[in-house]
Order: sequence, then C-alpha cells, then structure tokens
Amino acid sequence: MTAARELAVTANRALAAAGQSDMVWGHAAVRDPDGRGIWIKAPGWGFEEIDGDRIQLVSWDAEVVEGDGAPHKECHIHLEILRLRPELHCTVHSHARGAVAFAALDTPLLPVSHEGALFGGADVPRFTLTGGLVSTPDLGRALAGALGDAPAALMPKHGLVAAGTSVQAAVMHAVLLDGACRTQLTVMAAGPVKVWSDDAEAAAKRGECWAESQLDAGFAYLARKDGRP
Ligand SMILES: [Zn+2]
Repeated sequence: MTAARELAVTANRALAAAGQSDMVWGHAAVRDPDGRGIWIKAPGWGFEEIDGDRIQLVSWDAEVVEGDGAPHKECHIHLEILRLRPELHCTVHSHARGAVAFAALDTPLLPVSHEGALFGGADVPRFTLTGGLVSTPDLGRALAGALGDAPAALMPKHGLVAAGTSVQAAVMHAVLLDGACRTQLTVMAAGPVKVWSDDAEAAAKRGECWAESQLDAGFAYLARKDGRP
C-alpha cells in the first residue's frame, strides 16, 4: 500500500476511534505526493470500516482515478482547501455531534480546557454560507476561505472541517475542536461559563499543549485503537 493511501486509512480509522462517526458520512483526505489529487475515503463506508480497498484517488477535477464508484459529493471540501493551501497535507470533514450542537448556540468558543486553547484565545471560524452539502467547487472555495489559516472551523447545522500540515495534525485538530465544543456544552448546561484562559494563557497553552509532538502522540493513541471508539 502506498504511504498516502495507508495514511488515509489510518486517518479515517482514527476518527472512528475518536467518536466522530456518523454512519457512512464524513471523510479524511490526504494530498497525493505526486500531485494527482487526494486520497479520500470511498462513499458508503463508516470510518471504522476503511481499509486500503476503500480509499479512492480523486483528481483535482473530482474524477476517481483509482478505486471504485463515484467520489463523496463533498470531496470539494478537501480539493478546494488543499488546492488553496499548498502547505497543507490533510483535511478532515465530519459531522461530530459536539461540534454541531455547539455551533447551534452561536456563542463564542472559549478556552475552558486544553482542547479549547487550540485557537489560542481566538474564536473558532464558522462557515455560514450554507448548512447544506458542500457539493460544488464554489462552495468548497468559500469554505476554504472561511477556514483561512485556522486549524479547524465549525460548519453550523452540519459539522466541522479541520486541516493540518500533517495527517496527525489534521485529525487531531478535528478531535480537539469537537472536544472543546463538548466541554463547553457541559459547562453551559450546568450554568454560565465563569472561568477560562485569558488570551495570553490561551496562546501559551496552544504552543505548549498542541505542539507537533503532542499532536503526534494523540494521533498515535487513536491509531492504536484501530477504529474502536
Ligand atoms: Zn458533511
């Protein structure tokens, strides 16, 4: 199995291990090192069901180059982010329930936990053009614009998107955003949020807690779980 295909398998299975499954929807994609497009989960399978045969190579024109069937309708999420940002290696889209629930509150994401410090004290970006499927290149480009250079963004009424310069970073950014949302939802269910990091502490925590080595360690843990939640 090529390295990119193998990484795409591990990324998708890690998302299952992190509890981001929504039956057969959602996908992780890895940039093809030879510039042909992206290695992405094939439609019709859950994250934990992905193996090397259930990964497609999809061209920059959204054509399946290797693998069976049509690509996911929302492959444009990955194609347009990775086209716009050549330094990125991997992108993730999921319907993580914590992210969807939190986005519906339309309230700032606060650094109430290590996970919440991922944005260094800034709010998480949100893609508000549509709550429907990102099923065209135009919508993909708009989503890429909303994400900007942030590690992840909320897609209200839909899910989340995350990106990274490595597979490890992209998957972990998705996992950390969902975790931050879940933690703040728990707080808000019990009462008003009273304690969170100020901008200086949040920025310091972003560097300390979410350095590359930490993201790699978290991803390695999820990979060892091999799809088990
Ligand atoms: Zn979706």
